[in-house]
Amino acid sequence: MHFSKGNIEEFDVIIVGASFAGLSVASGLKGNILLIDRCNIGDCQISACGAPVDVVKEIGCEDSVLQASNIFSFHVNKKKIDFCLERPYCTFDFRKFCQIFASKTNAIFTKANVARVEKYDKFIVHTKDRKFNSKILVDASGWEASAVNSLKTDYVHSDMLSFGIETEAPYMATAFHFFYEPDFLKDGISWIFPCGEFSRFGVASYTGRRKLKEKLDSFLERYNLRCGKIHGGSFCYSFKEPVVEDIFVVGCAQGQTLPLTGEGIRRSIFYGVRLSAIIQRILTNEISFEKGVSEYTRLALNCSREYNFLFKFQERFLKMSKNRLEILARILSNRLIFRILERKYRSI
Ligand SMILES: Cc1cc2nc3c(=O)[nH]c(=O)nc-3n(C[C@H](O)[C@H](O)[C@H](O)COP(=O)(O)OP(=O)(O)OC[C@H]3O[C@@H](n4cnc5c(N)ncnc54)[C@H](O)[C@@H]3O)c2cc1C
Repeated sequence: MHFSKGNIEEFDVIIVGASFAGLSVASGLKGNILLIDRCNIGDCQISACGAPVDVVKEIGCEDSVLQASNIFSFHVNKKKIDFCLERPYCTFDFRKFCQIFASKTNAIFTKANVARVEKYDKFIVHTKDRKFNSKILVDASGWEASAVNSLKTDYVHSDMLSFGIETEAPYMATAFHFFYEPDFLKDGISWIFPCGEFSRFGVASYTGRRKLKEKLDSFLERYNLRCGKIHGGSFCYSFKEPVVEDIFVVGCAQGQTLPLTGEGIRRSIFYGVRLSAIIQRILTNEISFEKGVSEYTRLALNCSREYNFLFKFQERFLKMSKNRLEILARILSNRLIFRILERKYRSI
């Protein structure tokens, strides 16, 4: 139950954004929790929704899984190089995933666009026609970092965004396919992710180029397919402060989507769940707010070295010749080498 004081509705915690990161934070919280998103839960898919099977299972969303595979096929220089994963990946149905996940939270959901945030002894979150306040505010609003951005306008680095679009088409695949073809797409990659009787076909630009529809059309034409409904968006590859103006920032808002691979779901869930546990301890006075801030900051910055490595690799990757990339991919696809790499990567 929440209370109204004047025309302000009061909560213990407000979470802006009800996608991977926001739902993960909400999932472990008890009390008066408000989850705000401009879209209904599960309505606004941006992603290809590929994630490790065990991550989806751990949070109890396995009923949303569409297809799993432990083969990643990398296409370069007209060759296909297979990488065999120790722990399989899956695609899932975004709407179903979010709805299952949301059903596990006690949070109250409100569909509204957060227009601005003010900070006094509490935060006041303004939407078009309502105001909410809380002592704890979480920004899980994706690359826009909407809550933080209204108090710190230079938080979002709009020159450090990747952009991608995808569609589903009737095509059956057994592996996850990634294509690096600079003659076709000079600053990005394309992919095919299997989803049962359909596959997700996508193209993304590391430099944030948004005019990709023609590329997606020609990618599909290779398989005699036509473009259906498109989804997609930006994701951010600048790793930023995890707590700003006392607002906890999580998921893509903090830059937790990894450079090079663009993988962000696993990390949004990982950090969201851990942030949730920290906030719950603040709510029950087990730790002070300041201790919670320092614990989360330490946790979220823990892998900045690996993040920087991937960031540099992303920059180099675009400059590498197809031949060199093919040689590198062949070396890395060696079962033993790849197993070590996969474990290291999964620890980020
Ligand atoms: C084309 C594409 C394909 C991708 N494929 C994969 C993949 O297969 N696997 C993977 O791991 N990652 C993938 N990613 C990256 C992944 O989508 C992100 O890392 C992930 O979505 C981040 O989750 P998040 O919860 O932090 O933010 P988001 O998923 O971006 O969610 C932010 C939420 O906040 C809401 N919001 C934003 N501003 C406001 C506001 N002012 N008021 C109210 N609500 C607001 C939005 O509506 C949204 O629901 C892909 C990205 C793209 C663009």
